[in-house]
Amino acid sequence: MADLGWNYGKRTSENNRNAVECNFCKKVTNVGIFRHKQHVVGTYKDVSQCEKCPDGVREEMKNMLMKKGS
Ligand SMILES: [Zn+2]
Repeated sequence: MADLGWNYGKRTSENNRNAVECNFCKKVTNVGIFRHKQHVVGTYKDVSQCEKCPDGVREEMKNMLMKKGS
């Protein structure tokens, strides 16, 4: 099952599944898709918030992360 986070990011390396490039700002994170989603939502400390992400996407991602966390 594809993670929703992959709708907004893509792998930059076939060998490293933790390297994810943001579709919006092109920033690459090297710690996996979960961190990429935190980057899009942007309310986590130690994670830089995406500056190019549309508000609608941010909300969608936030709702999804909250559901999974409960
Ligand atoms: Zn971004």
